[in-house]
Amino acid sequence: MFALDDLARLFNLAVREDAAAGGLTVTSGSQTIVLSPQQPLASVAGRMISLPAAPIKDGRAWYVPVDFVSRALAPISTTKIDLRKPSRLVIVGDVRMPRVAARVEPLGSLTRVTLDVAPSTPHTVTQEGTHLSVKFDADALDAADIRATPTTDTLQNIRAGDAPQVITIDLGPRFASFRAADQPAPGGAARIVIDLVTQTETPASGAPQPGPGGVQLPPPNVPNLPEPPPLLDLPPTGGLRTIVIDAGHGGDDMGAKGAKGTLEKNVTMSVARRLKGSLEARLGVRVLLTRDGDQAVAPDQRAAVANNNKADLFISLHANASVRPGVSGAEVFYLNLEGYGDQGQRASQAAAEALPVVGGGSREIEITPWEMAQARYIGESAIFAKAMEAALRARVPMSPRALQQAPFRVLVGANMPAVLVEMGFLTNAQQEQQLASDDHQNLLVQALVDGILRYRAAGTGGTR
Ligand SMILES: [Zn+2]
Repeated sequence: MFALDDLARLFNLAVREDAAAGGLTVTSGSQTIVLSPQQPLASVAGRMISLPAAPIKDGRAWYVPVDFVSRALAPISTTKIDLRKPSRLVIVGDVRMPRVAARVEPLGSLTRVTLDVAPSTPHTVTQEGTHLSVKFDADALDAADIRATPTTDTLQNIRAGDAPQVITIDLGPRFASFRAADQPAPGGAARIVIDLVTQTETPASGAPQPGPGGVQLPPPNVPNLPEPPPLLDLPPTGGLRTIVIDAGHGGDDMGAKGAKGTLEKNVTMSVARRLKGSLEARLGVRVLLTRDGDQAVAPDQRAAVANNNKADLFISLHANASVRPGVSGAEVFYLNLEGYGDQGQRASQAAAEALPVVGGGSREIEITPWEMAQARYIGESAIFAKAMEAALRARVPMSPRALQQAPFRVLVGANMPAVLVEMGFLTNAQQEQQLASDDHQNLLVQALVDGILRYRAAGTGGTR
């Protein structure tokens, strides 16, 4: 409800309380509104209108329902009054303030940003360094519907710009170019479609590049991808939109080392790139790597890449080592909560809290200590790990202890189902040879893709 005193100041109203008649009289210029404290009604210039609630008195102040502005005040006001409840705005006078809403769709080699503008308003779209500015011929924008948007390779964020009539689109690291087109929309609205085109191949990322006719080709630096996959043979449904692949180790941290000199950090990077290419081509999902070259990345930073990008799955790739050269086979791990005690239990049961958000409404904001992020997903991670283990077993040699729980640091902070895959033992001569070979790496990639499909098919992947 609004305080009547505030409205009086804002709209130059005279408010008079008639104790004898038990009513309130609100005067604007020569027009009068009569309110009754007992009834959700008002007489506006002699016409009765209904209100969602009766006026109430709190201390010495009177409060009226928000709709009083549009139903009672607007009809008698000499200036234009436009109440926009979703945005918590009352627009007074002839302010040109179109509503703008944004939608983001990752479409393979481009990201499509759709801005709906009501009413249709002339505008320009220009690139200024690392962002696009969409400037409207207006006094200001009602951009309450522009909230957090998904990030992609070409899009970081959509936000209110520095000037009141500007929407700013922050571009991602792989942005190459854009094209903007206008479409008419119903009700005098307009639609601006802006396509952010992804750069073609960069050697560091190993992502697929668009080929003739938009067909995704395997990255040129990855020979012999597993069987040329049909493009987008599965719709990006089932709740899997973003997958983060963590190539274990990197930089000075070389991980395990084989007798022939094969380094774990290189095996994990190579498989991660192949897996990214295969997942993007076959599932049409967004795949991000926690490192795109030979650099050190802290464990928490790896999980942060997944959290910051709202990933639906997190997969950490490793190759194992043992003092006994005979030990071999792949293993799949999910997080072990032992040592976290009650705190872990509580976190695993904690419900998301709804917090009010500036600009109106509320949204679910999860409050979880970093240390406990994975605790709530242990059950899902166990199902995911089981699916990965079954898929690997169908294609590559497995360890006798193929499915395990362990307190891996890299999994602790992941706020989504997460597994760690030890793809084999580099300290085993035969496995070192396998892990370094294209053929075996491709087998692993096929198995890991299968595992993700099995997990998705189990129907649990869409519950977040
Ligand atoms: Zn490792």
